[in-house]
Amino acid sequence: NKQVILKDYVKGFPKESDMLVTTSTIKLKIPDDCHHAILVKNLYFSCDPYMRNQMNKVQGNDPYSLVPGSPIAGHGVARVIDSSHPDIKKGDLVWGFTRWEEYSLIRDPDTLFKIQDTDVPLSYYTGILGMPGMTAYAGFYEVCSPKKGETVYVSAASGAVGQLVGQFAKLMGCYVVGSAGSKDKVELLKNKFGFDDGFNYKEEQDLNAALKRYFPDGIDIYFENVGGKMLDAVLLNMKTHGRIAVCGMISQYNLEQPEGVHNLFTLVTKRIRMEGFTVLDYYHLYQKFVDMVLPLIKEGKINYVEDIAEGLESAPSALVGLFYGRNVGKQVVLVSRE
Ligand code: NDP
Repeated sequence: NKQVILKDYVKGFPKESDMLVTTSTIKLKIPDDCHHAILVKNLYFSCDPYMRNQMNKVQGNDPYSLVPGSPIAGHGVARVIDSSHPDIKKGDLVWGFTRWEEYSLIRDPDTLFKIQDTDVPLSYYTGILGMPGMTAYAGFYEVCSPKKGETVYVSAASGAVGQLVGQFAKLMGCYVVGSAGSKDKVELLKNKFGFDDGFNYKEEQDLNAALKRYFPDGIDIYFENVGGKMLDAVLLNMKTHGRIAVCGMISQYNLEQPEGVHNLFTLVTKRIRMEGFTVLDYYHLYQKFVDMVLPLIKEGKINYVEDIAEGLESAPSALVGLFYGRNVGKQVVLVSRE
């Protein structure tokens, strides 16, 4: 059973050498004392920014943190090859929390979702129809309180979550601008995802001035994916009664000392609501989300871009690439086609 294991806790930016591809043995049958378990063959791994936070050495007990020597844990798509669970049978396809190895014994499969619709590529269940898609949906519709005609700014806009947030905002009739880290990504925002405009934040000397250029009358909604200097500049450009949905702060995950944010007092003067959220609290809406998004995908009303690395061996480099912006769209690893 080929696996990708964490070699040691990570400090600073993750490196490929923090992980190791190795081989262990696994019986391709559920042990007799394992009730309600499933054995899966992993087909796709999802590379997600939160996986970096699992590699930190933490004080106390954190159920999500990894122990060196154990396989990387993350979301994926898998096929069930044996089951002692009453509702899941051999041959079923599932998405959810798995481990970076060819085969995984999953002792608590109740957190997994069964894949019902296979008319779309299975990899979509790591992204637009999986955790990041659900994040975009919950964050935009439940946290941002959007209204037609409002101005929306999305950072890390070409990524798994951002590309969908921008398209939801367009469907609602908002004016949408995104930022991303290369010229090609900005082209995608405008030409593939239908954003009204976009800019390469790496080419802007003054983020405050850049935002003033795109939002001369201010921002109603900021979908926050990066944090740090970007957040500080956004705070200076929010409209009165604006909303900031704090989804993530990827610019901070590899810093030993998080950057300070200086302009928080504008929350008071502009009566801004800034709210953090986690997708974990919104999975009860999953079916509603799929019922909305699946037809939009099939009718071509939502576009989706993914970046697929081939082979389990490519997984460490694909994951590290997120923190250098090497991924164009949702980063996925193809482990096995069947
Ligand atoms: P992406 O697919 O967008 O990949 C990460 C991207 O972040 C990179 O491609 C890069 O794009 C950008 N990035 C990396 N480093 C920096 C930096 N220092 N400054 C600015 N941008 C940077 O990831 P996701 O869409 O999966 O995740 C987006 C955000 O959503 C993350 O913050 C993540 O933690 C968060 N998240 C939160 C969830 C929740 O429940 N709250 C659930 C899922 C995700 P570029 O080239 O544009 O710089």
